Amino acid sequence: MALVLEARNLVRDYNVGGSLFGAGRVVHAVKNLSFSLEQGKTLAIVGESGSGKSTLARILTLIDRQTAGELFLDGEPVDIVKTGVTKAMRRKVQIVFQNPYGSLNPRQKIGDVLMEPLLLNTDMPASERRDLAMQMLKKVGLQPEHFNRYPHMFSGGQRQRIAIARAIILRPSLLVLDEPVSALDLSVQAQILNLLADLQDEFGLTYVFISHDLSVVRYIADEVMVMYLGEAVEYGTREKLFSNPEHPYTRALFAATPKADVESIKARLALKAMQAQA
Ligand code: ADP
Ligand code: MG
Repeated sequence: MALVLEARNLVRDYNVGGSLFGAGRVVHAVKNLSFSLEQGKTLAIVGESGSGKSTLARILTLIDRQTAGELFLDGEPVDIVKTGVTKAMRRKVQIVFQNPYGSLNPRQKIGDVLMEPLLLNTDMPASERRDLAMQMLKKVGLQPEHFNRYPHMFSGGQRQRIAIARAIILRPSLLVLDEPVSALDLSVQAQILNLLADLQDEFGLTYVFISHDLSVVRYIADEVMVMYLGEAVEYGTREKLFSNPEHPYTRALFAATPKADVESIKARLALKAMQAQA
């Protein structure tokens, strides 16, 4: 399978507290990360708050640049400062945030939210834009009558469905999801995770899934990278990580995951495996 994403020795430093008259301190938010991801797979990035996950997400989605290291998307090198980023390159990666309300314009109807990327990035005629937006609405489990409603008329889970539909309507090579279910109730979390799994199967999507929650990671990941203070302390397949976590920090994360969560995730996995066989 083709590599969608490759990172070589990515570094991101922030200078903080500096002024005109003196250098401040340097925060090493991301330290020397190397990883790769094949098309159709999910890499989960897990770690506590402050471990550098969102910094990495901003680099992968070409919002922020790395201080050092190389990034490749679909085999092409990207550096938003050195080489610049074309519109086509920007289209390749999309992001879904923890709080979709923050990224949805309250005065924009959902149909317009979904048609906007098509308007900005394609030559599609209006009728086709409308058809495709309707189709995506259905794909993410919403109804045609939702097309003309405003964001405040939806629940948190529904809004996250809208954000996902908008992110994938242009078929990006890579979708970065930064804590996409962390603000949702457990039952809604499960629905959104199932939706993401279904969409991945249908469209061959590639995910970088960021979470602080190992029970969620267990459900969604093919590969897992555990971050601690900007560093990857463990990186491997889900099976390997969950059967034999090597780093003390990973074991500490496990110890902090409620047993009930782990049990309910196992039950969901078993159910999904049964459904797949049926
Ligand atoms: P996470 O998403 O895992 O919680 P972040 O990537 O947000 O972690 O932050 C990693 C570290 O980098 C933290 O110490 C944070 O304070 C610091 N940091 C993040 N963004 C900035 C910024 N724009 N300026 C300065 N420091 C930052
Ligand atoms: Mg974060």
